[in-house]
Amino acid sequence: MGLPPVILYAFVFVVGLCLGSFLNVVITRLPVMLMRRWRSEALEALEMPAESAAPFNLATPASLCPHCEAPIAWHDNLPLLGWLKRRGRCAQCDQPISMQYPLVELAGGLLAVAVLALFGMVPQTLFIYSACLVLLALSVIDFRTYLLPDALTLPLLWLGLVYQLLFQPYMLGDAVIGAMAGYLSLWSFYWLFKLVTGKEGMGYGDFKLLAALGAWLGWTFLPLLLVLSAGLGATVGLAAQASSPALRGKPLPFGPFLALAGWTCLLAGDELFALYMRLGA
Ligand SMILES: [Zn+2]
Repeated sequence: MGLPPVILYAFVFVVGLCLGSFLNVVITRLPVMLMRRWRSEALEALEMPAESAAPFNLATPASLCPHCEAPIAWHDNLPLLGWLKRRGRCAQCDQPISMQYPLVELAGGLLAVAVLALFGMVPQTLFIYSACLVLLALSVIDFRTYLLPDALTLPLLWLGLVYQLLFQPYMLGDAVIGAMAGYLSLWSFYWLFKLVTGKEGMGYGDFKLLAALGAWLGWTFLPLLLVLSAGLGATVGLAAQASSPALRGKPLPFGPFLALAGWTCLLAGDELFALYMRLGA
């Protein structure tokens, strides 16, 4: 490596900011794209005339203000800097722009630096960083819409299996069992909960997300993932209810906590696992 580390890390941070900026597009548009598709499929099944609508995907239209739909100039759309320059407000209508945008961009940059520092300049780093970004997108989407799109959970699962095949083939068996057991454990819990209480405690997206994490980490991590995510979810849920009565009775998405537990295990798994085994023994 010829580059001094500071320049390398600064470069990686900026690339991460830009990827975070793209992630914001995925986070805001993917659920809308899915809703549109479901609607047009429903109309087709009911043999009703299709609606004509302007194209809407990750590339079209260009960035718009969510309030006044004014196009955002490139210099106001730069990751992090655009938001800071306008102090979080639209240049046209002066309405506030969500904190989600700079926070996801910053997370993209910081994760890139953290993954590089932990794993170094090896091909595995790109795979692990991709997984971190998909987990970030999934958490924010679930938090906003209660959806964990298959378009993200299933590629995350396959990417985990390919990672094991390429870099640690001795883990492949553990990973396949992890994916199956991850799905089945939450699936059984869901049905048990539904039979006993008549309520739905989580969604099928949660099963697929745990399956994906099982593929990345192997089945041995599943109990730790569940303990961490349930603990985090319960703590945050209780804190939210105590701080604001408006949140009482509002369901909390489980996906962000699964994703956070997954992140933690991907980045600090071996240390955590050792601690967990020591506490359990
Ligand atoms: Zn505006």
